[in-house]
Amino acid sequence: MFKKAVITLISLLLASALLGGCSAGDTSSETYSDTAFMLDTVVSVKIYGVPEADARAAVDAAFSEIARLEGVLSSNIVGNGIDLLAQNAGTGYTELDYDAVYVLRKAVEYAELTGGAFDPTVGPVVALWNIRNGSGYVPTDEERAAAAALVDYNKILFDENGRVMLADTGMSVNLGAIAKGYIADRVKALLTSMGIEHAVISLGGNVLAFGGKPDGSDFVIGIQDPFGSTGEIAATVSVRDMSVVSSGDYERYFEADGIRYHHIMDPFAGAPANSGISGVTILSDKSVDGDALSTAVFVLGRNEGLELIESLDGVECVLIGSGGERTVSSGLKDSVVFR
Ligand code: ADP
Ligand code: MG
Repeated sequence: MFKKAVITLISLLLASALLGGCSAGDTSSETYSDTAFMLDTVVSVKIYGVPEADARAAVDAAFSEIARLEGVLSSNIVGNGIDLLAQNAGTGYTELDYDAVYVLRKAVEYAELTGGAFDPTVGPVVALWNIRNGSGYVPTDEERAAAAALVDYNKILFDENGRVMLADTGMSVNLGAIAKGYIADRVKALLTSMGIEHAVISLGGNVLAFGGKPDGSDFVIGIQDPFGSTGEIAATVSVRDMSVVSSGDYERYFEADGIRYHHIMDPFAGAPANSGISGVTILSDKSVDGDALSTAVFVLGRNEGLELIESLDGVECVLIGSGGERTVSSGLKDSVVFR
């Protein structure tokens, strides 16, 4: 885990060199950036165009907000709302923090939109496989079926007081596919309220850029090559005021008997999705949308995934198939450059 963090940190530094390197001489406009290991990944916040003391205060506030929201939304914290929700499954309603209810409602919206390809009640499947970097468990067919049978977003019940209940015992919620997007949006709102107009928030594969660079140029964001080592870029996109979220089978996986098992699950199979895609990048205004959609499109596969993205206003995608095939949605043709 530590080794992986170091590799990711190095790649982040490489990526930031790329971010900063698109036009000569403008690196001086980056006033402050900092990096930390949070949300089980490498998190960085870069602030441009304000005095360093202000930027430093803003980055510190951003990290505090990320830590607070991680506590509220994580599935791995004993006693938080998400944990109580699972403990009370099948028996009663649970009072949750505002942010948890908001994200759950958003997650249900995306579950409906994607016919359950994205489903926040995938918790039992995620817990069964227990996939970390380099380790996990390969369940039996019976175990998979039993976990998959507990997945059903229709069984998340909301009462009139804003409390939430999971209808069946054994159900649990996992917000890992949408929480980072929501957190990025919250951090953007916080930074904006502090007077920051130009910044890049990077939470693992979730990048939220806002304002463009102070000199008026775009931010250039690298898209990870699913077949390369961490930090190797398959393409770049130029953006301003845009979320760029990637999901892929290269992000978190383990291998057993020569088979790679990754962390994006097909909720119906109770097993890692095998849709012929290796990497999905979604561009959208809000990162919460990009995050949910990146996971959903990965599960849906190229044809259904692309159809979904083309049907949504203001959302674009870059898909990299398991054989290296590249697909770009219609609105993105001019701003993506493959290497
Ligand atoms: P990452 O966490 O690497 O950014 P994703 O946004 O694709 O990648 O989220 C994957 C995580 O979401 C998994 O680790 C798991 O916790 C959860 N998850 C896996 N499959 C699904 C799914 N089909 N629907 C909703 N959540 C999922
Ligand atoms: Mg996601």
